[in-house]
Amino acid sequence: MLGKNPLLERRQRVIGSHSPLFYEQPLHIVRGEGVWLYDADGRRYLDVYNNVPHVGHCHPRVVDAIARQAATLNVHTRYLHDNIVNYAERLTARFDSSLSMAMFACSGSEANEIALRMARHHTGGQGIIVTDFAYHGNTEAVAELGTGFMPEARTTRRVHAFACPDSYHGPAGLGPERLADHYADSVQAAIDDFAAAGIKLAGILFCPAFANEGLLDVPAGFIEKAVARVRAAGGLYIADEVQGGFGRTGKHWWSHEWAGVVPDIVTLGKPMGNGHPISGVVASAELIEAFGAWGMYFNTFAGNPVSCAAALAVLDVIEEEQLLANAVQVGAYIASGLRQLQASHPLIGDVRDKGLFFAVELVRDHHSREPASAESAALVNAMRREGVLISAVGRHNQVLKLRPPMPFSRDNADLLLNTLDHCLGTVERQYHE
Ligand code: PMP
Repeated sequence: MLGKNPLLERRQRVIGSHSPLFYEQPLHIVRGEGVWLYDADGRRYLDVYNNVPHVGHCHPRVVDAIARQAATLNVHTRYLHDNIVNYAERLTARFDSSLSMAMFACSGSEANEIALRMARHHTGGQGIIVTDFAYHGNTEAVAELGTGFMPEARTTRRVHAFACPDSYHGPAGLGPERLADHYADSVQAAIDDFAAAGIKLAGILFCPAFANEGLLDVPAGFIEKAVARVRAAGGLYIADEVQGGFGRTGKHWWSHEWAGVVPDIVTLGKPMGNGHPISGVVASAELIEAFGAWGMYFNTFAGNPVSCAAALAVLDVIEEEQLLANAVQVGAYIASGLRQLQASHPLIGDVRDKGLFFAVELVRDHHSREPASAESAALVNAMRREGVLISAVGRHNQVLKLRPPMPFSRDNADLLLNTLDHCLGTVERQYHE
């Protein structure tokens, strides 16, 4: 089947055969609008995967802001310009008052790279603690954090991993409080390992939604306990909001707010410019000023007038279209629909949700929780054939990842749930009868 497609052949010839593509039959998407994607034959697909077009594909407000600014001026940030100042003011106003300054970059990886450098400079330490199934980006220093994700990433002396805080797969029968202690002890073990090796701690870096880890159901109290231990050892708390930020998790603008622990550094990316590449680091004035005084940081494209125009328009749309409230309402509707499906489909072991972010974990057996990896791949492809785009994550790619653009409606939700019901039935018959 592969190789019959001329565009695919040309792609493989010039950008390599390992550049990832979704689906057994790759999609040739040519247009997007709202929650819909259209292929070259004009077929439309419901997008339940893409979080970067946060306020909807090609939202006219964002398109217009980009086009107008691109037609007026686009240049680096060494001249005064309103856009970067307006944006930094509006962005930081959405955070705790201690997080009052922002720096800009172009990707989540770069934002995390800055955060690492800032934490290491501030503490004078090198040691960074991450989960044992983290992905935070692709620069050399940030790839070191991807201990479980990328084959080439190796845990180095300056990176230690703690066990993912996971109520579904963690030790049974402990109850939330003891489970939180159990995982906080794993963070403490990383702190102790650094101390034993004579490596000073710089901090802990994690996504407070534990998105790439499979949108984990984290035992209540874990984040508070883990961060307290890191801070007691002199480290900083870096929250990677590249996936969980800008209202994705519904109730709050930032996923770290669920635990009520204010980070020292927050990194942002993906949805920030609705597809236009802009990312950021938000921290205290003290941290950012000290970092700037220590080493000049300049990034040619970051924070330019077009990027900031896009990002400003994203904030406008989130506020005016009340997308957080929509994430809460439609999110609750989808979560309840998924739990109904769980009651009738034995393949679904667990459903986890936060706002418009859902993880549906597929298992072969509810007791052993054996991952249903092949079934998950079959389901993702079956959904694509039916015109609904989803993906899978997790250590065994057994967790369906549903993360649609934020203006997702109840009607969209019904189409998603009905298609999932149908495809689950097909896959269950195919594998388990
Ligand atoms: N942090 C998280 C949590 C991510 O999911 C990603 C990308 N998947 C990144 C950082 C890196 O972002 P980028 O691809 O924009 O460099």
